[in-house]
Amino acid sequence: MTQAVFNFCAGPAMLPASVMKQAQAEMLDWQGQGVSVMEMSHRSKPYMQMAAEAEQDLRDLMAIPSNYKVLFLHGGGRGQFAGVPLNLSHSGDSADYLLSGQWSRGALAEGEKYLHCKVAGEPNLIDGKVALPPQSALNINPDAAYFHYCPNETIEGVEFSYIPDAGHVPVVADMSSTILSQPLDVSRFGVIYAGAQKNIGPSGLSVVIVREDLIGNARQETPSILDYGLAVKHDSMYNTPPTYAWYLAGLVFKWLKSNGGLTEMAKVNWAKADTLYRFIDGSDFYRNNVDDNCRSKMNVPFQLADESLDSKFLELSDAAGLKALKGHRIVGGMRASIYNAMPLSGVQALVDFMADFEKRFG
Ligand code: PMP
Repeated sequence: MTQAVFNFCAGPAMLPASVMKQAQAEMLDWQGQGVSVMEMSHRSKPYMQMAAEAEQDLRDLMAIPSNYKVLFLHGGGRGQFAGVPLNLSHSGDSADYLLSGQWSRGALAEGEKYLHCKVAGEPNLIDGKVALPPQSALNINPDAAYFHYCPNETIEGVEFSYIPDAGHVPVVADMSSTILSQPLDVSRFGVIYAGAQKNIGPSGLSVVIVREDLIGNARQETPSILDYGLAVKHDSMYNTPPTYAWYLAGLVFKWLKSNGGLTEMAKVNWAKADTLYRFIDGSDFYRNNVDDNCRSKMNVPFQLADESLDSKFLELSDAAGLKALKGHRIVGGMRASIYNAMPLSGVQALVDFMADFEKRFG
């Protein structure tokens, strides 16, 4: 958290230093209450006020239209892998899933417990690089209960440059690793959900943004804590919400607002990603195998030409204060996750380290 260390963890990920400092300062005495926010009833006036303000700040940041509800639920990203089919379909229905990597595959596997899931598209290779399917290649069934996709795959580091058009079929997006990274037209979606632990706050919390007409049709067997209708009715307090995570999310939203909102985030995120990809592309020592048009601005996987140097790279980068660069075990190599809280100076420090490492071992 001190700036001598830059944390590239994919999630739980680094949070803005000023947010952590504020949380630390008010840890034992929140708003002059003499107790921590962690120790207060979620139904107390100050907590309810904070919770409502957090929602409003998120609405402002994302320009969420008034016909959408914002829910703060338990269960992270995977909770919604089940929440979506339970709320948006009935048994016997089918849904379309666009497969772009591990997380969309995971969503489909969970969905298959509840309904028939069809594959609407898959990545392919262009000149040996992974590329996402264009809109024209998507196979969307007009009778589908919904169309699910993951705009940014955290593990493979692929990101869609467009929002798929599914006609009248509701588009559902797992935005766990991309929410709040750039302005977004929320009206194109039926449901947006995100596990909080990358761009929002601590893990466990799931933020769900859902169009009103999709609420209130949950299957009878839906666990109450996943039922969107109940969550709306109880202002996301049907059971005790993850209160501390919600509070921290609120601090992050305020930090985003005071730092220029999503337009400014998008600029900085673009500059960070551009700095890193440009460096990788200019070197024969490092490589990234994602097609230019599909490269993630949040998660940058890269490989060393000589993988016997991987452990040396990890050992020395860690010693240099560049933490958690090990790639996901499924893809190997390295991965730098550069969410909103990562400053450009962190990416610059990484690139400087990589250049130095190449000089010494290349
Ligand atoms: N979707 C995506 C895109 C993710 O990156 C993750 C977690 N890394 C998940 C879902 C699962 O989130 P959780 O662990 O909160 O269930």
